[in-house]
Amino acid sequence: MKLPPFDYVSPTSLAEATRLLAAGNGDARALAGGQSLLPAMAFRVATPGTLVDLGRVPGLDKIEMGVEEIRIGAMARWRDIEACDELGAALPLLREAVSHVAHAQIRNRGTLGGSLAHADPAAEFPAVVVTCDALIEIAGASGTRAIPAAALFVGALETSLSHDEIIVAVRFPRWPAGRRWAFREFARRGGDFALAGVIATWDPDAHGRVANAHVGVFGTGDRARRLPKTEAALNGSLLDELTILSATETAMTEVDPTGDVHGDADYRRSLVGVLLERALCETLSG
Ligand SMILES: Cc1cc2nc3c(=O)[nH]c(=O)nc-3n(C[C@H](O)[C@H](O)[C@H](O)COP(=O)(O)OP(=O)(O)OC[C@H]3O[C@@H](n4cnc5c(N)ncnc54)[C@H](O)[C@@H]3O)c2cc1C
Repeated sequence: MKLPPFDYVSPTSLAEATRLLAAGNGDARALAGGQSLLPAMAFRVATPGTLVDLGRVPGLDKIEMGVEEIRIGAMARWRDIEACDELGAALPLLREAVSHVAHAQIRNRGTLGGSLAHADPAAEFPAVVVTCDALIEIAGASGTRAIPAAALFVGALETSLSHDEIIVAVRFPRWPAGRRWAFREFARRGGDFALAGVIATWDPDAHGRVANAHVGVFGTGDRARRLPKTEAALNGSLLDELTILSATETAMTEVDPTGDVHGDADYRRSLVGVLLERALCETLSG
């Protein structure tokens, strides 16, 4: 299918990019790798009058390994995240999650910022940033701000960004030594969007009990989110059979999935239970 007609601009600074978006007054869209936007345009789901290509804005694809935080530029491609060994060692969850995103060809072009701005409820990285309590750096025509990841996602394919704003980078807090983690998703074929997915992280306390549990889900509602009641069912307990059972039962009542042609709500709810049980068991072996 042919793309509808559009104007194309290629700014060379962040200030110019946000100015061009603001001038578009809602009719201009940022272009990252084009892996979601161009298919949407081909299907006439999106019909922006102007594409503001972020590809020549310097510095947006940097991965910076700070002492307390790791900052990943919005234009870092899936491939960059996958290939960065230092990042893989510090935040192994990211490399694991990227391995479930689409196929190699798409991972060569698709970007972290594009995925977050696209806000597909079945995508892996909205759940990764929410589960990791990452901060999202945003620049707009009137200045910059940083928001908690959970505040970015408003609904399916909907974010709290205004039309002149660009995601600049994502800041992940570094993990403490010994953090336990697991990522599980179920998709019909490798590379497909997940029908449901679960991320679990926790830190053992001095007695080996669960502390600081984070449980994130995706593909089970209109946005990725954490499950606070499930986390409470884990915190303070030894991760034995009973705790895992109580957490999975809580998670299945805490999610509110919608059904579609790929799986109804009950199926997705039970997938969350199965995936969380497997994820929690996996954290014991790590
Ligand atoms: C066949 C196929 C399978 C896929 N499977 C998966 C999958 O399993 N899991 C998954 O997570 N994804 C999947 N994707 C999507 C892929 O991960 C894309 O990389 C991702 O959606 C973002 O695309 P992009 O970076 O090319 O952004 P674009 O397509 O260029 O942009 C996407 C949207 O984000 C906006 N945008 C882009 N960058 C910014 C920014 N920095 N600030 C503000 N707004 C911005 C654009 O205006 C647009 O609205 C798949 C894609 C295809 C084509």
